[in-house]
Amino acid sequence: MVLYLIRGFVNGNIYVSFKPLRKAESMLVVGEKVAYVGEKGVVEAVVSRLGGELVDLGGRTVLPGFIDAHVHPDELGLYLSTLDLRGTRSIKELKERLRKYAEAARTTWVLGHGWDQELFEEGRWPTRYDLDEVVAEKPVLLSRICLHAGVLNTKAVELAGLFNLKLPGVLRDEQGVPTGVVKEEAFELVRQKVEETLTIEDYAEFIERALHYAASMGITTVGFVSCGLKQLKAVFKLWSEKRLPVRVRVYLSYRDELVEAVKQLGIRRGFGDGYLKILGFKILADGSLGARTAWLSEPYSDDPSTSGYPLLSEEELKRAVRKVDEAGLQLAIHGIGDKAIDTVLRAYMELNKTREKRHRLEHASVLRDDQVELMAELGVVAVVQPHFVISDWWVKNRLGEKRVHWVYRFKTLAEKGVELAFSTDSPVEPLNPWETVYAAVTRGKYENVPYYEDTREECLSTLDSLHYYTWGSAYALFEEDALGSLEEGKYADFVVVDRDPLVVSEEELKSIRVLETYVGGKKAWSL
Ligand code: ZN
Repeated sequence: MVLYLIRGFVNGNIYVSFKPLRKAESMLVVGEKVAYVGEKGVVEAVVSRLGGELVDLGGRTVLPGFIDAHVHPDELGLYLSTLDLRGTRSIKELKERLRKYAEAARTTWVLGHGWDQELFEEGRWPTRYDLDEVVAEKPVLLSRICLHAGVLNTKAVELAGLFNLKLPGVLRDEQGVPTGVVKEEAFELVRQKVEETLTIEDYAEFIERALHYAASMGITTVGFVSCGLKQLKAVFKLWSEKRLPVRVRVYLSYRDELVEAVKQLGIRRGFGDGYLKILGFKILADGSLGARTAWLSEPYSDDPSTSGYPLLSEEELKRAVRKVDEAGLQLAIHGIGDKAIDTVLRAYMELNKTREKRHRLEHASVLRDDQVELMAELGVVAVVQPHFVISDWWVKNRLGEKRVHWVYRFKTLAEKGVELAFSTDSPVEPLNPWETVYAAVTRGKYENVPYYEDTREECLSTLDSLHYYTWGSAYALFEEDALGSLEEGKYADFVVVDRDPLVVSEEELKSIRVLETYVGGKKAWSL
């Protein structure tokens, strides 16, 4: 592959930045960075005098690369690497698909997902004997479409120790021998076993796959949230082997000893290079609205017996926050319910100069007015997932008439001076940035989301959404000087798309396609 040191991109519709809105027709990239944006004549003259490559954009639209500030690349990669069994019509077909997939699968366990015995011609559940006929040497786990059950081959039953385990979720035949089908708690146990057996190499494969997928979506930087030690080693492996197609910014899963270890290694926020940086720690303050485990100050409207609950006490949270902050690292705290967010904000309030430290609040789903004000005052960055607005269409039932106005307050946050960063929490939501932009702009208007009317004043413009997905996310990562726009001196991270997002109708936003993705001036992906 020829690496051109100088590349001129001419005849484009280039968005240099969204706020302020700045456009150009041509751009000069030298090495990894943008050297100049402006007139075609200047770019052509440099290329013809100094040598290099001239790329005619043919009027196509160029945008700064998307920065997804909150992704789980390990889980996304696992999901993408799994055999997709949805729509399988028979056990015979399942076996055929498993056979083909297993030949190429490089992981320790062979994993698949999505079968449904209701669709099978044979009219029965699959068993370990079915799977043994196809794969006997490696353990196999194929989860049912509902993710509450699965089927294992004999090797997997042995490895999970199910032959001697007396759990109701382990299905047995008349002789009391496990059939290979597991449900509920037994299924969860097997999933944990799978995770334990995943090697650093397995994780490296998953993460690499997820990052290539991100590049194909036009994402040039990801915030890797909840990164465990094994995952971190996998990222380091990819980094040292130059296998990172996009930039990765790491937030480790909080553990007391891990903060201590990182501190002793001398790792501070920003450790790494352009491709990989360690930024801080992720902590979970509460659960989710879907499971009614997000911690609210008043009970759930559709279940007054509960208000959710915290995942750690306020004292523990404060201690953890202090510890991470004193170690010179950034915090990313998951807070969904307003009561949980109260505790997070109180913990941040006790730190000095929180604005300069830009600690993050992940999700920030249910916010009272006073909390928005406090976030602005403290300089807390709201890392939001606009696609939640559509996925959580039932949220009005959970929260009721009054509190429904407190959900996903993107416009209010922005107007009150809180910096916003966009993300997907993928694989929780689709990684495609255009679906996220569409959700931020339309908020379920075309999906008949029941609370669309209640919160329509929170709709953002396309321009604002693109700003938060680029510059806003870069700010959350402390990198607005290097990433998030195509101004001179920044990394040449950009995408070429098939339509101009600021010209198309709002409904059309979600079908915009990325044609090419460049990271540091190099093509990371093309259609
Ligand atoms: Zn997450």
